[in-house]
Amino acid sequence: MARIAFIGLGNMGGGMAANLAKKGHDVRAFDLSAEALARAEAAGCLPAESALAALDGAEAVITMLPAGTHVESVYTDAVFAAAPVGAILIDCSTIDVATARRVGEAAQAKGFTAVDAPVSGGIAAANAGTLTFMVGGSAEGFDRAQPFLADMGKAVIHAGSGGSGQAAKIVNNMLLGVTMVGTCEAFLLAQKLGLDPQTFFDISSVSSGQSWSMTSYAPLPGVGPETPADHDYQGGFATALMLKDLRLAMEAAAGARADTPMGMKAAELYERFAAAGQGGTDFSGIIRMLDGQ
Ligand code: NAD
Repeated sequence: MARIAFIGLGNMGGGMAANLAKKGHDVRAFDLSAEALARAEAAGCLPAESALAALDGAEAVITMLPAGTHVESVYTDAVFAAAPVGAILIDCSTIDVATARRVGEAAQAKGFTAVDAPVSGGIAAANAGTLTFMVGGSAEGFDRAQPFLADMGKAVIHAGSGGSGQAAKIVNNMLLGVTMVGTCEAFLLAQKLGLDPQTFFDISSVSSGQSWSMTSYAPLPGVGPETPADHDYQGGFATALMLKDLRLAMEAAAGARADTPMGMKAAELYERFAAAGQGGTDFSGIIRMLDGQ
């Protein structure tokens, strides 16, 4: 069992740190929020007074922070100053590819081994220890991070060199945004053409229109398996988080000079949906906006 510094104990990090403690690790936890810190303590972590204190003697450092600016400042101000150089540095936040690469290179220049390891799966998966991790970094970095990530998830996949974990995450979520909008449109058109939604689901979910958005996350209540649509579009994957990932994907596409017209359209539609006060609604709820509701 290892001594782990865990920084960022919010909706996701709280459950992840608790799972590491449950597995018997010595988790030194830090968050700017006193409530988050108290929850981590109740879940078996040792609360630290500062990021620097949490990092003292750490064999692994895990961060789960809101965005690239937070990650860059925590690494620059705390991790590079106080983590032992032999520690494996693992950032699980979803951040922009450019910052992930910059932080990884800065870590390497200081003699650290660092990986970006964003997750697929929401708060329920973080609490249950069933996240999927997409890891960017060297083979050595992947091998060293893998056992810690396996203690918090069901799958750990090496995506490629530094930044590749972030790239895989945002490209996957761009595809998810696009297929969800397409699936919503398809259901609405099917209904206007007189098709029963469940019948259309039964056909499309085993035909070539099939996707995860259709088969596992159908956006209409009472159609297909139980989804957030059955709970008035509450729970699930918040529109604000989908929009965050689509913006990151569009930023990365511009940097890579990639033409992503469908991703751009999905980003525009989710911007409108969020601006209408629906940031907390599950992303499949966009069917209501597309239906003119
Ligand atoms: P959150 O806002 O609930 O938690 C972030 C935590 O970081 C907060 O508790 C905040 O106090 C803390 N923090 C910020 N700056 C800090 C600093 N300098 N030092 C210490 N603590 C600091 O966010 P979340 O939902 O847990 O998401 C975390 C990351 O995971 C994000 O990058 C998000 O995009 C990604 N993600 C979230 C979900 C989800 O369903 N919530 C799913 C997949 C990925």
